[in-house]
Amino acid sequence: MKLTSKQLIQLEDKFSAKNYHPLDVVITRGQGVWVYDVDGKKYMDFLSAYSALNQGHVHKKILKAAKQQLAKLTLTSRAFRNEQFGLFCKEICQLAGFEMVLPMNSGAEAVETAIKAARKWGYLKKKVKKNKAEIITCENNFHGRTISIVSFSTEKQYRDGFGPFTQGFKIVKYGDIEAIKQAVTKNTVGVLIEPIQGEAGIIMPPKGYLSAVAKICKKNNILLMLDEIQTGLGRTGKLFAYQHEDKAKPDMLILGKALSGGFYPVSVVLANKKVLGVFNPGDHGSTFGGNPLAGAIARSALKVIQEEKLVDNAAKMGNYLKSRLKTIKSSWIKEIRGIGLLIGIELTKASGGARPFCEALKAEGILCKETHKTVLRLAPPLIINKNQVDMAFEKIKKVLEK
Ligand SMILES: *Cc1c(COP(=O)(O)O)cnc(C)c1O
Repeated sequence: MKLTSKQLIQLEDKFSAKNYHPLDVVITRGQGVWVYDVDGKKYMDFLSAYSALNQGHVHKKILKAAKQQLAKLTLTSRAFRNEQFGLFCKEICQLAGFEMVLPMNSGAEAVETAIKAARKWGYLKKKVKKNKAEIITCENNFHGRTISIVSFSTEKQYRDGFGPFTQGFKIVKYGDIEAIKQAVTKNTVGVLIEPIQGEAGIIMPPKGYLSAVAKICKKNNILLMLDEIQTGLGRTGKLFAYQHEDKAKPDMLILGKALSGGFYPVSVVLANKKVLGVFNPGDHGSTFGGNPLAGAIARSALKVIQEEKLVDNAAKMGNYLKSRLKTIKSSWIKEIRGIGLLIGIELTKASGGARPFCEALKAEGILCKETHKTVLRLAPPLIINKNQVDMAFEKIKKVLEK
């Protein structure tokens, strides 16, 4: 017997922990930019699972690669080798321009991995005294939800009730070069930053910030660690968001989300040998990290980004959508910002927050999610075309001008 959306929502509300506040739409099928709910209503996905679906829902090529691998071999663990792993490593290293990669599953795990690598590098190479390593992070960061990661969150709710926390992090103002300079000590091993703060509400640092941070890192023998889990793989109209600036290439690049085109959790840390070379057998690991299914899916997901020129499309469609959004006359809009297809519409306090707008957009057939109460995040799959942007724009305009 097929359950109605109301029944399915009741089941979820009764049996699931309440760590999310989802919109009441029960999705059963997705294709490209579209998803369909159990009642047959069609929506355009303007969240893309927080940018994990850059290639769109159930991309045919990735599906084919996944199906083939699924029928053949799914997991070996890294106790043995598998035929996808070496190819995946080579392809992602070549694409991103690094010598080595360490694969994990979720984004948070990759961030944890980067922290471990930076610390170990600090003790082995920079000769920081035992247990003294410091990593500089920024206010309003979002890097995931593990205990160590929320240890340097400044979001009260992310920490409340979860202490005691992990030591060794310094938190400075985002976008402020002087603040980073002042936080540097002889024990600083890394600076961990998002090129654009996505969860904080699409916060863009001042121009030249990343280049300046990279320069400080180089001068002081510190690793620049960029979390591009949300901004990477085309989202901002460059393959990686740091490429919007000169000489901002990090020592460690952290990717996740769109690396699997939404099929399966795959994340990585990329770096050169001098950094990832610090790991020896047994130092770190993951049962599922680097498995052949993940390898086949990620290889195909990366190929789709390149073959379908999704980076260029994100730049073009992003510019187009932003220019159209700027024509909307609404007293609710405080600011429109972002780059590529990562766009935030900040609403005024008087608007009553972004949630009611998300509900109204849902009724119009557009799914998006508020971030930080007053920001509407617009982040459709990067395969979106001009007609679809126009269609979505008309609905966004209607809701915001109401
Ligand atoms: C989503 C996200 C993470 C965490 O990824 P998970 O897969 O949810 O653990 C980390 N950093 C950034 C910037 C993210 O957007």
